[in-house]
Amino acid sequence: MNLTRREALAILGTAAATGLGGRFGSTLAAQAPLFRKGAIIRTVLKDLPPEELASGPSLFHEHLSMRFPLGAKEHFTDDIALMVEEARAAKADGIAAIVDGGHADMNRSLDALKRISAESGLPVIASGGYYMQRTYPADLATKSVDQIADELSKEAAASRFGAFGEIGQQGGVMTDDERKVFTAIAKAHARTGLPIFTHNAYTGTRPTQNPVPKDSAIKQLDLLLANGVKPANLAIGHVCCLDDPKAEIPIEIAKRGAFVGFDRVTIAIVPDAQKVTTIMAIVAAGHASKILLASDFSNARGLKKNGGGGLGQAVTVFAPLLVKAGMPELTLKSILVDNPRQFLAFGPL
Ligand SMILES: [Zn+2]
Ligand SMILES: [Zn+2]
Repeated sequence: MNLTRREALAILGTAAATGLGGRFGSTLAAQAPLFRKGAIIRTVLKDLPPEELASGPSLFHEHLSMRFPLGAKEHFTDDIALMVEEARAAKADGIAAIVDGGHADMNRSLDALKRISAESGLPVIASGGYYMQRTYPADLATKSVDQIADELSKEAAASRFGAFGEIGQQGGVMTDDERKVFTAIAKAHARTGLPIFTHNAYTGTRPTQNPVPKDSAIKQLDLLLANGVKPANLAIGHVCCLDDPKAEIPIEIAKRGAFVGFDRVTIAIVPDAQKVTTIMAIVAAGHASKILLASDFSNARGLKKNGGGGLGQAVTVFAPLLVKAGMPELTLKSILVDNPRQFLAFGPL
């Protein structure tokens, strides 16, 4: 099968981008997933019933506002008018909502996210928490797990977080402080119901002096589940940066009920062709309902302004590769449209 970009976009139902007429409406009406009564997805502007995001893909880990690495004097997301334009373009590509994976540790601006969402009309979900050891505020080391959990729960309510993320570790083995943060996030999740997505340090197919143990994603899963996290609202992130074409680790995560984050598609830590192979192996093992796609958007090269695939590049650039590899249309739609809503929908407690 040889699809043009136009045909691939049409299959993805991006009617506005192609003018060919999306097919989401008709198929999803019959296939709509069940959400708990009263469950919501919390955007920066309002709480939405998950059914309201049935029109297109939601991307669970991108970046619309950050100033990173720490100490950086400027970042392309400083230009909020530009990010509004890019969000409008993503909406035109059929994207229904985007989760910003940043937090204070990355100098993410909540006001910027609100403005981007209000001016573009694209629903944006803000996240919160702590990133990884080298970005932690100095006083974190002196705080207890309960103190951190308490502060995060309050901040989540005050700042309208729709998720905790990205919660990470900087190396192959968690530091004591990282373990403390993961435990506190689990406790804050129990109090708020907010979904969690993590960051792993997997180094892909590139040679490295410090290889990250293959089971580091499983250790994150173990720690969070042991502290009471509901796997239905948990995504273990950057699993696509693990060199694991047989999908052993993703399948183990899915079997335990959590989502598998393929949230660095288009980033060549593992080549995209291999990510496709791994995803097809997860699907073949019966776990399509646990795959989440996103691109961890953080490079100006991806901007539409610069000729890239835009904020929706997980859909505009990567998803057509899955179609070419033979993924059935309904499976792809369900991965892009249903899985992120199920991950993001939470409550009532
Ligand atoms: Zn990350
Ligand atoms: Zn990220």
